[in-house]
Amino acid sequence: MRIEDKLYLVGYNVDEEGSHLGVSDPEACKKCQGRPCTYVCPASVYSYDEEEQKLSINYDACVECGTCRIACDYITWRYPRGGFGVAYKFG
Ligand code: SF4
Repeated sequence: MRIEDKLYLVGYNVDEEGSHLGVSDPEACKKCQGRPCTYVCPASVYSYDEEEQKLSINYDACVECGTCRIACDYITWRYPRGGFGVAYKFG
């Protein structure tokens, strides 16, 4: 089974008030070598637009694994508010 197939089994309760993920210094993304956040995330939450020189964060797909906060010191990470975020179905 591919990881994309597994992610289809996961549900989300998206917090419309805002993201639980961010970047403390967006200027750092412009200089970052390799941009690890764009490939370590199993849910492909991060993408970088080279033309606009801007990091996009698709927070509503986050599975709250915490990998990105280890990969990058500039990622600001917290759990979503209570009642929001990923909802594993286990089957
Ligand atoms: Fe991706 Fe995991 Fe970071 Fe969420 S916590 S953005 S799933 S690496």
